[in-house]
Amino acid sequence: MNEKIKGVGKVTEECFSKMGIETVDQLLHTFPNRYMKMPKPVDLKEVGIGKYAIVGFVYGTPIMTGRRAMEKVYTSTGTINAIWFRLSYSTKMMRIKQKYVFYGQVSEYNGKKQIIQPEIYPYEQYMKMYKRPDPVYPLTKGLKQNTMKKAMKEALKISNHSECISSSIMNRHHLVSHEYAINQVHFPDSFDALEDALYRLKFEELYLYMKEIYDMNNVNRDSGPILSDHVDEIIDHLPFKLTEGQMNAWEEMKKDFISGKQSTRLIQGDVGCGKTILAFLGLLQCAKNGYQGVLLAPTEVLASQHYEGLKNILVSQGLPYKATLLTGSTKNKNEICKSIKNGEISIIIGTHALFQQSVEYKNLAVVITDEQHRFGVEQRKTLVEKGISAHQIMMSATPIPRTLGLILYGNTAVTVIKDRPADRLPIKNCVIEKNKRLVAWKMIQSQIEKGNQAYIICPMVEDNDENDLSSVVEYVKDMEKYFPKETKIGMVYGKSKDKTDVMERFEKNEYQILVSTTVIEVGINVPNATVMMIEDANRFGLSQLHQLRGRVGRGKHQGYCIFVNGSKDKCERLDIIASTNDGFKIAEEDLKLRGMGELTGTKQSGTQGFLLADIYNDKDILFAAAEEAGVYIEKNK
Ligand code: ADP
Ligand code: MG
Repeated sequence: MNEKIKGVGKVTEECFSKMGIETVDQLLHTFPNRYMKMPKPVDLKEVGIGKYAIVGFVYGTPIMTGRRAMEKVYTSTGTINAIWFRLSYSTKMMRIKQKYVFYGQVSEYNGKKQIIQPEIYPYEQYMKMYKRPDPVYPLTKGLKQNTMKKAMKEALKISNHSECISSSIMNRHHLVSHEYAINQVHFPDSFDALEDALYRLKFEELYLYMKEIYDMNNVNRDSGPILSDHVDEIIDHLPFKLTEGQMNAWEEMKKDFISGKQSTRLIQGDVGCGKTILAFLGLLQCAKNGYQGVLLAPTEVLASQHYEGLKNILVSQGLPYKATLLTGSTKNKNEICKSIKNGEISIIIGTHALFQQSVEYKNLAVVITDEQHRFGVEQRKTLVEKGISAHQIMMSATPIPRTLGLILYGNTAVTVIKDRPADRLPIKNCVIEKNKRLVAWKMIQSQIEKGNQAYIICPMVEDNDENDLSSVVEYVKDMEKYFPKETKIGMVYGKSKDKTDVMERFEKNEYQILVSTTVIEVGINVPNATVMMIEDANRFGLSQLHQLRGRVGRGKHQGYCIFVNGSKDKCERLDIIASTNDGFKIAEEDLKLRGMGELTGTKQSGTQGFLLADIYNDKDILFAAAEEAGVYIEKNK
């Protein structure tokens, strides 16, 4: 932390650092994931089974039986027993005859209701509190909700909040001040205040982004023409024939390259249509002309896979260009950076850490971004800020509606790849219930016996590294009881350090099954894998499910996707995803479902790299902010 925050010690600071929080400003921009609403206290008569807040008194201290403590709570209409398995400080400090609110799970025991492990609040405090949304922050191991809240309170005190939007714009859009908004988003006085705060912060986020991009992007930069058609020879020697869609995209890329003007192009094509090879061709074309090219991937695993793929082409076709992998965990960075600076290395593949670090290029001509929707606007901003005048190619499997795309990406050219390699069979889908898990495992084992492999996405737990690990470990333990010893199971989870290594072994079929949380979702390509099984699939969004499913059906074998519905209720999204393999259709349905999405302020996460703004749900804010930033908007579309 660059500034000292009262009460934040070394341990907390380390936790912050793990979450990427190094400054007070970054802390203040760590927004609650959601807000809880404490319920209004009710009369004992109205209490059923579930979570309740009850007003009452105690007339003694808890009675201990072993480690279990019991206390009779007197309310105006009867008594209820409160049970604790762990005595907290507030339980011990309870004063007799004082009015408290007990908040906890009510259940029935021997025909009588009891309240389990209730939290205890002084009456006055609770009555103020329950009207307010209570923030719930993202955490990491060792960091508690309360510590986070305290740090946030202090951070708000010491930060200064200058206004970054002009008063005329604020008036036109009824925006609250930045200072008010940032205070209210962390500690809202009411749900209305929270809504105002969120509106303001989203507007700010979109407005500032667009102002920056459009101010800087309007300069028409020159860029050395990249000629040469020799790359077409490389195409002739690939192990497969390019599809029509791929050929068409390649022609367009070449046109951009020759133009002599800096270009931006978005290449959209469903998962598995073969975008990677286009990136490789772009890089090779660049190298052939004596320029440097960069390929950015959202994860180290994917970057490393791309690097191996490119090296394969270099070696098998005997091409003389030097390529390197550059990610956060690359060892001899200094040396590599030197070779990039003096132009010895012409192809650089890495994560976007590449642009945050001070890598100097000799003559960078092309920047290709894979899985663009993952980086979103943030990365574009970085490129623009750095004044890089290279051609930009963005690749994405997630279609973005045209009107929104025009605003966010300006006059970016778009190429859509509609076809897929000819030898592909459509993936077979099914939705099953949790109790049919063994049937799915059996099917997986039979695929393995045919020489194929499988992915399993583990049941989900709360967003916390520790749980993340234990859920994978527990799941694999269960599997090991069922699968024969010869079936080797690899695992990866959010923070595992050996991710790349495990992935490589999976690629080599040293593991037949890969169990993971969702870290593998993006871009990974192991054509020999034929089954994707997704536990608790009902908890994922449509687009994410489609991305996950896209990991199979990447070779000539039949691919299967098993969606496990973890809930007792039917899940509409699962029926949709199982009924079609068409990514564009799914994106459309996703939009429809989002449209009727959750209420503002219950779940905070942006899209396209925005922190808060969701360009789908917040379309109106996007339009308003874009207009104020001077962006031309096509109306009535
Ligand atoms: P995505 O568009 O999802 O990034 P990839 O580029 O990873 O897809 O390609 C998926 C798989 O298809 C890879 O194994 C790739 O080698 C293969 N592939 C790409 N183009 C073709 C083609 N024209 N014919 C056959 N296989 C192809
Ligand atoms: Mg890809």
